[in-house]
Amino acid sequence: MRGRYGFDELNGTMLALSFILSIVSRFVFNLTARIILEVLSLVFIGLTIFRTLSRNCYQRQKENDVYKPIFIKVRDFFKITYRKFKDGRTHRYYKCPSCKAQLRVKNIKGTHTIRCPKCGYQFQKKIR
Ligand SMILES: [Zn+2]
Repeated sequence: MRGRYGFDELNGTMLALSFILSIVSRFVFNLTARIILEVLSLVFIGLTIFRTLSRNCYQRQKENDVYKPIFIKVRDFFKITYRKFKDGRTHRYYKCPSCKAQLRVKNIKGTHTIRCPKCGYQFQKKIR
């Protein structure tokens, strides 16, 4: 592995995608769709192997740097969705009108003044 790029986040995601596509294709009975899913799965495996063994580390690092912010956005979306689902009865979620940060407020009836801890903006919300 000397001089080779190795494994990174993008490779991990592509490997997971190929695994998921391979499993999904087992449950698809349309032959054309099944072949497409299998080929896509193999393409992702091939890309993962190519990137892992590549000697052009600079280019692979650049690809991973483009991928990372997308990965973080998707991960945060699922994190927030999970939290909303988990404490949906005890808390309410609002977006700060100023900086769009997610704010969690206890689910208590009445009018509340909410202050964003990120930017300091204050706004009113009524919980019924
Ligand atoms: Zn804010």
